[in-house]
Amino acid sequence: MVAMRASFLEKPNQISIKNTPKPEPKTGEVRIKLHQVGICGSDIHLFQGHRAVAYPLTIGHEGLGFIDTIGEGVEGRTIGERVVIEPNIPCGNCRYCLRGQAKICIHKRTIGLTEAGCFAEYLTVPAAFAHTIPPSVTDADAVTIEPMSVAYHAINLSKTKVGDAIAVIGLGAIGLLVAHLALRLGYKVFVTEINESKVKLIENQGAIPVCPVGTIEEQTAILSQTWFDNDVRAVFECAGTTITTNMTAAAAPRGSNIILLGLSEKPAQFIPLKIVREGITIIPSLICDHPVDFRNVIQLIAAKVIEPSFIVSQYIPLDDLQKGLEWASKGHESKVVVTI
Ligand SMILES: [Zn+2]
Ligand SMILES: [Zn+2]
Repeated sequence: MVAMRASFLEKPNQISIKNTPKPEPKTGEVRIKLHQVGICGSDIHLFQGHRAVAYPLTIGHEGLGFIDTIGEGVEGRTIGERVVIEPNIPCGNCRYCLRGQAKICIHKRTIGLTEAGCFAEYLTVPAAFAHTIPPSVTDADAVTIEPMSVAYHAINLSKTKVGDAIAVIGLGAIGLLVAHLALRLGYKVFVTEINESKVKLIENQGAIPVCPVGTIEEQTAILSQTWFDNDVRAVFECAGTTITTNMTAAAAPRGSNIILLGLSEKPAQFIPLKIVREGITIIPSLICDHPVDFRNVIQLIAAKVIEPSFIVSQYIPLDDLQKGLEWASKGHESKVVVTI
């Protein structure tokens, strides 16, 4: 048996590092030797046991690495090619896939969730889900392509255009990347976040902080007025809490679009009369479209239009994954990257 080192989530809050067989690529797949892997909010969610999975599970889906073995039937790929992994793999045959809604495929495979993920030395994926990275792109930018693609997709769905004003609630990795892309494209960007260091990170790039204090009603009133006065056309809810979702729905200006990226599991509320009378549209934004969003993001990075690596706050070795997940769960880090 040829072994590799891999991490396993054994049960909530417990990671172990063990030897396990190296995966072999099936027809149409490539094997990737992983180099760097970002820790995502959803990894923290899994780590904390908020979602039922089959334990033990290797989590992680923001993988950057090198093609190490090429499976049968794969054409045009080379050993040693640097690639980033697109982690959501639709079936291509269900009614949703057939009508162009692959993002909500009922048989969707997700690396690091429904099958083994990236916090390991090797991983196999269908070749089309390993995107080639041009040499001009740094590793730090490349390892953030997956969350950047999610942010890119959300802006595309927002029905806004360059020059418009937008607002972003919550500056986790996705909120920061939505704001970064929008700023680089020439939008006016208002941001709301309680963590000052994250506000600084994007204020330095030109974002305008609106971080009210006071009761929820007072904060909502300030957001509402600021957004209305500045003709905000879209509000991106990236915090994923009931309170921020409620505030977004209550404060979204007349005629605007609300883009829901945050994954709050609890009920939130809106007033139908306001939504209807003021012509507000609520748009859900889940993951991204294969393969165009990854490709477009890679091009934007190669052209230096965007530099998403600014979100990387720390690198840790695979052996420290347990500690890294614990740190990241405190919410102070914008992106912890695990080096394999
Ligand atoms: Zn992610
Ligand atoms: Zn499907």
